Amino acid sequence: MSLLSIVRLGHPALRQPAAPVDADRFDDPAFQQLIDDMFETMLDAKGVGLAAPQVGLGQQIFVYTAVDPDLPFAEDEEPELFALVNPALQPESGEMVYDWEGCLSISDLRGLVPRHPAVRVQGLDRHGKAVDHRVSGYIARIVQHEFDHLNGIVFLDRMRDLRSLAFADEWEKFMTSEDEDGPPLG
Ligand SMILES: [Zn+2]
Repeated sequence: MSLLSIVRLGHPALRQPAAPVDADRFDDPAFQQLIDDMFETMLDAKGVGLAAPQVGLGQQIFVYTAVDPDLPFAEDEEPELFALVNPALQPESGEMVYDWEGCLSISDLRGLVPRHPAVRVQGLDRHGKAVDHRVSGYIARIVQHEFDHLNGIVFLDRMRDLRSLAFADEWEKFMTSEDEDGPPLG
């Protein structure tokens, strides 16, 4: 496995809609390698999600984990990792929920972002098998953040009040209590 380099805001890949993955790609070892590399790159960057455009690839793929990357894993415990290909999201009704987010492609900034409280996720897993499930809360936030990356959207575009925008150091100093975890980075 190898680490991929994460592109930052200003790179055109982050602003272009990604293309669907063809059905014949799933059997390609290079495709499976890419998914493994995306997992490794996400965990190395202490992220909880990573979309293909963030490594400069315009393909409808993202990976995520429900595990806090700052916590040490037990020896025999593997973080639960998910890959979604050609996903579609259907938000459930309900009031939008605001919480802090950061992005591996906008690494220094944090902001309050409204997201749907729950979404239905449909798409394919890394082997091309159909996926259809419902996610809510923290995971729904990660999935919406990553899905946006496949459409050239970043969390800054979703913010409704830019006054909550902060540099990470200042966010930790002034905008959160000491025992609060940092926002998810995706
Ligand atoms: Zn992001």
